[in-house]
Amino acid sequence: MPDSAAAGPTVIEAVTCLVCGCLCDDLSVVREGGVLTRVEHACTLGREWLLRERADESARPPATIDGVPAEAEAAVSQAAGLLAGSRAPIVVGLGSCTQEGVAAALALADRIGAVVDPGEAASSHPRLLAFQRAGRVSATLGEVKNRADVVVFWGADPVVTHPRHFERYSVEPKGRFVPEGRAGRTIIVVDRGRTSTAEQADLFVPIDENRQFETLWTLRALVRGLPVDRETSRFLRESVPSLDELRALAQALGKAHYGAFFHGPLLHRGSLAGASANLEAAASLVRDLNRSARFVMLGLGAAGNQPGAESVLARQTGFPAYVDLSAGYPASMPGVTTAFDRLARGEADLAVIVGDLPVDRLDGPARAHLARIPRVVIAPAGVSHPGLPEPSVRLNASTPGLDEEGTVSRVDGVSLPLRPVLAPSRPSAGAWLGQIAARLASVAGA
Ligand code: SF4
Repeated sequence: MPDSAAAGPTVIEAVTCLVCGCLCDDLSVVREGGVLTRVEHACTLGREWLLRERADESARPPATIDGVPAEAEAAVSQAAGLLAGSRAPIVVGLGSCTQEGVAAALALADRIGAVVDPGEAASSHPRLLAFQRAGRVSATLGEVKNRADVVVFWGADPVVTHPRHFERYSVEPKGRFVPEGRAGRTIIVVDRGRTSTAEQADLFVPIDENRQFETLWTLRALVRGLPVDRETSRFLRESVPSLDELRALAQALGKAHYGAFFHGPLLHRGSLAGASANLEAAASLVRDLNRSARFVMLGLGAAGNQPGAESVLARQTGFPAYVDLSAGYPASMPGVTTAFDRLARGEADLAVIVGDLPVDRLDGPARAHLARIPRVVIAPAGVSHPGLPEPSVRLNASTPGLDEEGTVSRVDGVSLPLRPVLAPSRPSAGAWLGQIAARLASVAGA
């Protein structure tokens, strides 16, 4: 894909940005002499990602063994040897991989009998547990754009974290049934403090982040028209928001013809049980609201391809996370087959980390054990895992969306193709995983 200076600039249209869950796929990027020089339609975060200087990353070797530069072939052999000798491997990360990369990781995990757990447990596991219990009424972001006249952001600040969410999906666009755009929508923000998003809302309701379950459950009673008595409830006597504020919120929700409830990180706070109860209460509230209108629930989505990783696992194994392949068939038991719980209990003896992994969000025992066991890391050169020593083997991979094509999935399940803007500089994560699998197969057949 390099351009000769004489050929002039190349314009690449419909580029997808992976910096936040918006996954904007309308960017226009100009490349001159193999360097990106201009980006249009992106927000500041997306522009910074695409135009960042990467000379330092390009100079890194294709692979390392114990931190020492190595030939790719030797590193692949070393990784295959470690995997062949492991009795309890885990495969983690995956949230920044393409669907194709996740499928390759799953094929390798199947071969070695590993536990596969994509993404970051603290936010994904409560969500999965809650929606498995309560179900979820959902929609595409296109449907929200065309129909939603009441939009709720609960514990989310998209103006800061998802800068083009308002413009593309939820607030500003003129939709088929909302021709006035912003003027045709009521925007409600529920959060512990006045955020940048709250500043642009029609209604802001402050909440106590530690009483979200009670707040949501009271709202359920109010929208169903059940009696709510302040005198018999200590929560209601002390609550933030007050009962009057909750009544006003229930009334605003009840005016929707089509409502969209976007949940943010505040609902995921706390223990697994507490966070999943909060999310289950929110899903139940949205279900109740469907008695009088269409109401849907969506996350804002994280950077990368977490929904895509979960969908590949669900499609191929029947489970979206904590999939144990050690018995030769998939099994999934939250807490038992969860990779991070296996780490915390000291049960895993090798980790394959594909792409990004927020090590700082693992609990202490899990992080300590992960630092002790052999690790095979397959990730773009710019991805590091602070707090962990040099991995046993590191294979530097291309970056999805930048110099790697493939498919990713938006938070509403819509698949998007990636159109790379730079020439591939390294094998993709999927290609490295395929090489390791081939080496394992050749050793097994020898
Ligand atoms: S809103 Fe998100 S996906 Fe869209 S350009 Fe900005 S960072 Fe990229």
